[in-house]
Amino acid sequence: MVRRIVHARVGSHPSAEDLVQETLTRVLAASATIEPGMLEPYAIVTARNVVASMWRDADRRRRNQHRVVDLSTPDLPDSQVVLDEEQSAMATALARLGERERRTLLEHEVSGTDTHTLAARAGSTAGAVAAQLNRTRARLRVEYVLAAEQAELPTDQCRAVLIALSGGDQRRQREVRAAQHLLECELCARLSEPLLERGQQRDDRLRIPVTADPDIVSARRAARELASRLDFAATDLTVIATAVSEVCRNIVRFAGTGEVVVELLEVPRRGIQVVARDGGPGIPDIDRALDDGFSTYGGLGLGLPGVRRLMDEFAIASEPGHGTTVTMTKWERTHDG
Ligand SMILES: [Zn+2]
Repeated sequence: MVRRIVHARVGSHPSAEDLVQETLTRVLAASATIEPGMLEPYAIVTARNVVASMWRDADRRRRNQHRVVDLSTPDLPDSQVVLDEEQSAMATALARLGERERRTLLEHEVSGTDTHTLAARAGSTAGAVAAQLNRTRARLRVEYVLAAEQAELPTDQCRAVLIALSGGDQRRQREVRAAQHLLECELCARLSEPLLERGQQRDDRLRIPVTADPDIVSARRAARELASRLDFAATDLTVIATAVSEVCRNIVRFAGTGEVVVELLEVPRRGIQVVARDGGPGIPDIDRALDDGFSTYGGLGLGLPGVRRLMDEFAIASEPGHGTTVTMTKWERTHDG
């Protein structure tokens, strides 16, 4: 009977006989506690569960395989050579993790042990285990990219910066001055791209690299789209878009390369914040740059004074030789004014 049930569900699957044996073993093991007359239904339910769990396992393996392979950079040609390289990079990356970190990660990702079980075993909490797993994944991604690219990091700071970016940990990113480092370190700027793509899962925050005129248009459009999710009046949307294109134009014109990060805010109230960073020469005299009489464009555009008037909050920080950061915010206006 068990064999019939199993075969009806999995056909001539190579595991069919294993499933039959597993079912019979379970039924026999439980037989002492099963009420007389219930043996047959018990066997049927057990057989179904055993079959279902095989599909779940296969499904989980497929999903986890995807999760591990997913760590690779996109757009690689699909060849055996590349696959071998990916596997060897992953092996190298795993080897660079601490023994305990690696064991916990593999138990969770490959064996499917949940965070509660892992926490109970370690005398910890599920939340702490989940946070540790996130940190391990962030490190693994960095080590993977480094191994795949066979990159030698030029400074002591590089690894800390890459890990902070990979984990999407903003407090840590500020501590290690990640943004500044990316502007100065060619290698980290390149390596962080695949790391940031994964980190950029928040949909209330956009990062737009700015290097040329077309980026101004993209940044402008992206900021407007993001802002339109709040209750901004049409005129405010135009104001925000204009301010964004103005700071982007500054980057293209005076620094050559930089980025704009646009983010929706909930606290202290709803609004949109724009941070424009560049690694350019910096502004030697900020007061003068913000003076209405002083136009950075020789008469064209609003200039920074104009942008400051458009936005509700405006701050500028500049370090000669290290670039400029403009941070500005527009608050959503309540309908009664
Ligand atoms: Zn670096």
